[in-house]
Amino acid sequence: MSTDFKKLFLFIVTSLFTICLTGCAKPIQEAHVEAPCTPSPYVQEKLPEITQKGTVVILATGGTIAGSGNAGEETGYISGVLSIEDLISAVPQIEDCANIEAIQICNINSDDITSQIWIELANTINELSANPNIDGFVITHGTDTLEETAYFLNLTVKTDKPVVLTGSMRPATALSADGAMNLYQSVCVAASEASRGKGVLVVFSDMIFSARSVEKVSTYQVTAISADETGCIGIVRNQEVYYYETPVKRHTTDSEFSVSDLESLPKVSIVYFSVDADPGLLTYAAEHSEGIVIAGAGAGEFSQEFIEVINQLNIPVIISSRTNTGLITQDSVLCENTVAANTLSPSKAAVLLRLALTTNWDHETLLRMYSEY
Ligand code: GLU
Repeated sequence: MSTDFKKLFLFIVTSLFTICLTGCAKPIQEAHVEAPCTPSPYVQEKLPEITQKGTVVILATGGTIAGSGNAGEETGYISGVLSIEDLISAVPQIEDCANIEAIQICNINSDDITSQIWIELANTINELSANPNIDGFVITHGTDTLEETAYFLNLTVKTDKPVVLTGSMRPATALSADGAMNLYQSVCVAASEASRGKGVLVVFSDMIFSARSVEKVSTYQVTAISADETGCIGIVRNQEVYYYETPVKRHTTDSEFSVSDLESLPKVSIVYFSVDADPGLLTYAAEHSEGIVIAGAGAGEFSQEFIEVINQLNIPVIISSRTNTGLITQDSVLCENTVAANTLSPSKAAVLLRLALTTNWDHETLLRMYSEY
């Protein structure tokens, strides 16, 4: 190859390479800019999930959370004064968690809650839960009987959507009132997908409890709503919901109880045993109720006088404990015609008996129910 031919060959190769660099680079660069940003699968896993805000319905019933009294004072207030609109407007951050719809069911002290109100709550939730635009429910309630309403709803609502009860220990007018935070956290829990299928829940002071185990354990502390024996099943921090346990007893969609055709529940009386307790209490209760729960001493025990009267009763008698905690097994009951309440407190054992009495029950059915629910 002559030197001139070599120079010509190098010139052609260099020119072609330059054309490629300038001509090809531009379209590649443009394609990169215009292409949609698609992160690698690894990055996609790490991105926070972008979800649409859900809708939560708040059903308000009253209690201290809606209470009002002398500014800064914790006692001497009136329960059930503020409307649900007042409660919501005090916590505008709620709208960050969910769109809110509000229904004022009643505005009362929770000691005045009735089985008619329970049935109205259950039926309202059962109707609204069919609406695909509703994601969950919050019920504001006085703390005195909150655990009974929660357990009743746990056995009668027919939805996997979260149903959360809350309240407060200090009225809205007290210093450091706890109602606003409890309401905010309840809405976050009710809007959370993680809360589905866990049965009815109670949110109080950063903790999430199952309806079956929750109890009021103090007359004044802001942590009065608790579950001393089993603990909380989850925690709320900021808007985040963290679960650690799942309730295993039958509830909501797996419950056999239905109240859609009822207006009220059969009456059940709780008889509290103490030293020298008059067995006439049992006779009176049997004459005025369809069933009895005994808050016995220790593992559901009572005097010989009580045993003699109970052996003669022909209405269902459930044996619970005035300790409010611990298991009572069927082999330890003192009278054969009675049923052990398992770990249910007297007030929860009474809720279950009132529902059981609406079914075709017999002694065997009651034994099954107190072991399953
Ligand atoms: N007795 C009131 C009620 O249950 C006060 C208890 C409360 O809400 O904290 O409504």
